[in-house]
Amino acid sequence: MREGDIGAATETPARPKEHGPWGRRIDERLHRKEYRQQADEDQRHSTRFFPCPSCGADLRFDPGTANMICAHCGTEAEVPHVDDAVAQLENCYHFYLGKDTGAMAEEEAPSIDCNGCGASIEFHPDEHSRICPFCDGAIVGDVRMQRRIVPQAVLPFKLIEQEAQEAMRHWLKSRWFAPNDIADEAKADHFHGIYVPFWTYDAYTDTDYTGARGRRVGSGKNRRTVWTNVSGNVTGGFDDVIVSGSKSVSAEFKDALAPWPLRELETYQTEFLAGFRAENHLIGLKEGFAKAQVYMRAVITDWIKRDIGGQRQRINSTYTRFSKETFKHILVPVWITHYDFARKTYRLSVNGHTAKAYGERPFSLWKLIAGTTAMMLGAGVIGFLVSAVPWAG
Ligand SMILES: [Zn+2]
Ligand SMILES: [Zn+2]
Repeated sequence: MREGDIGAATETPARPKEHGPWGRRIDERLHRKEYRQQADEDQRHSTRFFPCPSCGADLRFDPGTANMICAHCGTEAEVPHVDDAVAQLENCYHFYLGKDTGAMAEEEAPSIDCNGCGASIEFHPDEHSRICPFCDGAIVGDVRMQRRIVPQAVLPFKLIEQEAQEAMRHWLKSRWFAPNDIADEAKADHFHGIYVPFWTYDAYTDTDYTGARGRRVGSGKNRRTVWTNVSGNVTGGFDDVIVSGSKSVSAEFKDALAPWPLRELETYQTEFLAGFRAENHLIGLKEGFAKAQVYMRAVITDWIKRDIGGQRQRINSTYTRFSKETFKHILVPVWITHYDFARKTYRLSVNGHTAKAYGERPFSLWKLIAGTTAMMLGAGVIGFLVSAVPWAG
């Protein structure tokens, strides 16, 4: 019997693998001019308009501040402060599930679904150039109004685009086996600032289990494991298990860009989104909780093994009761780009709050060969030393 580490289990265990050197051919990409045009449209066509009090141009949220700023005349306007308690409010899971999410506030946003990667992204109907910020593919299709749950909180952008670019160069430079000139030569036209939807779940768990504890006995050929049947109970809580609300590639960098400083969540206000895009959630409250439970059960398995103790453990059956389930629906900031290197395109994303970067990257063939050779030589030298020592054999 043990009390779980409440609050310790906040990150999912499976980390996405780094991508290999198989970027797409640059020829598939849209014309560079059109790409630049997209950058301008990102700026102009946020679906939320806050006119500048001085010149009437659109204000844009200024990352790292509590202001919106006019790119045209520099006028600043403060984002009205709202009580932060709402941002950290834990909503009762069963109450909202019973209401089929109808109890949650909803809003409509003009959006397009990307056939390439499945993302549902906010787009203004006037925008001509439509490139998916996640997969870099051209999106065809009509803008239609989509209903979505209003997030309760947002982690506002802290990094400006130039800082995201610096984070990218720093990340590229520090990669093993990367080509020497990668940081200088990688060309990224534009970073898209996207708010990505997340669910976070809390729950208390109480698990009964049966299993067996193994003890190794004997030596040499007679070595074996003796099993003793055991049963027990482990309990523990989970705080803010994060699940992506998206089915697009943004789900893949959820863990890679973690941790997300959720203590710094602000109560949702559209001002924070001015000048940025938001991705719509496609994974609902219930589906999200099922994903969170997969992670929780993996952690519970570790708890049970520790509880069984001994040299080896077997788990035969488990029964988990979940209680005090709560959730939050939030938006987190991601700078995402596609960069070109040696005629290939790679995707890269940067945590818009912490500057942590993650992406696809090229490998230097020569460095790989040199590195592998060095490792084999190293192993060879050790092998030689071992065989040269008379008592080692
Ligand atoms: Zn202005
Ligand atoms: Zn896409």
